[in-house]
Amino acid sequence: MRTQDTDKLIEIDKAHIWHPFTQMSLWNSPDHEPLILVAGKGAWLEDSLGGKYLDGNSSIWTNIHGHNHPVINQAVRDQLERIAHTSFLGFTNPAAIRLAEKLVAKVGESPLTKVFFSDNGSTAMEVAIKMAIQYFSQNGRPEKVRFITFENAYHGDTLGASSLGGISIFHDRFKSHHFPVIRIQSVEGLAEVDPAQIAGLVIEPMIQGAAGMRVWPLGMLSALRRWCDANDVFLIFDEVMTAFGRTGEFFAFQHENVFPDFLAIAKGLTGGYLPLAATLTTDRVFEGFIGTYEELRTFFYGHSYTGNSLGCAAALANFRIFETEQTLELLQPKIEYLGRRLELIRQLPNVREIRRCGFIAGIEIQRRDGGRFKWQDQTGAKICLVARRHGLLTRPIGDVVVLMLPLCVTLEEIDLAVGAIEGAIASLAE
Ligand SMILES: *Cc1c(COP(=O)(O)O)cnc(C)c1O
Repeated sequence: MRTQDTDKLIEIDKAHIWHPFTQMSLWNSPDHEPLILVAGKGAWLEDSLGGKYLDGNSSIWTNIHGHNHPVINQAVRDQLERIAHTSFLGFTNPAAIRLAEKLVAKVGESPLTKVFFSDNGSTAMEVAIKMAIQYFSQNGRPEKVRFITFENAYHGDTLGASSLGGISIFHDRFKSHHFPVIRIQSVEGLAEVDPAQIAGLVIEPMIQGAAGMRVWPLGMLSALRRWCDANDVFLIFDEVMTAFGRTGEFFAFQHENVFPDFLAIAKGLTGGYLPLAATLTTDRVFEGFIGTYEELRTFFYGHSYTGNSLGCAAALANFRIFETEQTLELLQPKIEYLGRRLELIRQLPNVREIRRCGFIAGIEIQRRDGGRFKWQDQTGAKICLVARRHGLLTRPIGDVVVLMLPLCVTLEEIDLAVGAIEGAIASLAE
């Protein structure tokens, strides 16, 4: 694309578009030149002026096998030749049926046998919340309406999902409209909780994402499972970020072999191609909604694009690639290499802490004297801008630089990514 065309598009963008999680005065300021991403191949993205960048956060944690993957491309094309979308209310379609079968098979020998489709991580969580409340309301425990969540949790931006969230700059503004939750810091916090009114306990297993990549201790999921079983509380795993191999296992819960009562997945489900989500649950929950129509035990919930065929076709191809390319097996040495490579920058005076779970990493920066940067200075964002000049695109969470590469990257690309962050950190003046 020519420079003039790029300038024109940016002008129109700035005139009409309101971007997510973005202070638009900064976006629209004359010296901000947003990248227009026009193409991608593997772990690489290309902008409208021909610049090439490694996709350092997997396009906001969604991409799995790389961009423009021939297998997913073909699967979407094949589906498109037949039909793009039909209603899932009153009808069904082959791609969604096959995908549900695949999902249930993939969680393995588990009680999770039922699949409810929706569109994104937030709606996958809304489904879990509403199913849990309705289950207890129509199965003899109507007082069970509350949820336990963790400090700094992130479960999405719709009102229900954000009620569960614990990140104050995202969520505090809406406090008065949120349903009340019981927020704990660790498993020990459960000792104080009266379980009588609790419907569910919600956690991002193994690692909290938007909190700044905070890793939970091993053994935690088993402890939560025991408490939930003892108190008739549903255990809800938000694997919107962690599923599809990111932590080194296909699902994060496999690190402890603990099954939840609800499993929410989204971001990586279609390999990062299309918006699609699923909430898996158990026969017990499903049976709790069965009755005659007049009993009104139906789950009255759904979205226009539920069970979208293009998305399901992409998701099926995503699963196939895990098998044909042995993605998880090939990922193990990459995880090990990433760990060793990050170890080399851990001692830098500007590095406060490096946190990692499998292929998900957060590099927290600090001032050389060990103090924190003022949050208003947006040092994390500045570092990411410099990293861009070194060929890496990513987005920080405060002063935590996120590194979450597509699983298809090579060791050389891991080296380039960490090198770019290293170079950016070296540019810090204090
Ligand atoms: C991104 C995310 C969500 C929300 O998903 P959306 O698709 O953005 O609605 C929920 N939970 C976790 C853990 C996430 O990382």
